[in-house]
Amino acid sequence: MQMVWKVGLAVVTRKQQQKQWSQQRAEQKREKRKARLVRESIRKAKRKAKRVAKAAPKKGLVAWSLAVREAAYHTCEVCGATAEPKTNKDGTPKLNKKGNPITVQLNAHHLLEKRYYPEHKCNPMNGILLCPKCHSFGKFSAHKNGIWFALWLKKNNTIKYEWVKRNVGNPV
Ligand SMILES: [Zn+2]
Repeated sequence: MQMVWKVGLAVVTRKQQQKQWSQQRAEQKREKRKARLVRESIRKAKRKAKRVAKAAPKKGLVAWSLAVREAAYHTCEVCGATAEPKTNKDGTPKLNKKGNPITVQLNAHHLLEKRYYPEHKCNPMNGILLCPKCHSFGKFSAHKNGIWFALWLKKNNTIKYEWVKRNVGNPV
């Protein structure tokens, strides 16, 4: 009789233990799942932050470029070239091989290079609108002939010249 009772007790305790174990396992599973979700959400947030950081400066630069273009009335500030279609001698628009009018693509140029002056990267004061020739292709261009460009700026755009002088740093 006692033996049976003992066996019965053993069965009961074993069942209880199994129940406890399964509860523990479920608990562990839940914890694991929670941890995984947290890890995933952190990873997601990091990815999003990266994406935003990547996109934000670009957005700022586009706005900056537009501001520079509008301030200069879409005209090269050095030679006066406009973004209008080029014309032939008889006044008809010059067309490319595909039959589209050829336009001058004006460039918004950073006076203080954005790589070295990230704080002025999106400041419209730090921008000037140039045609490709005056920007980087011609002998007298901002990128090929910095001294000439500085002298041109001093003579023709005193306000921006003074601003550059104040912000360029390392006074001599
Ligand atoms: Zn020009």
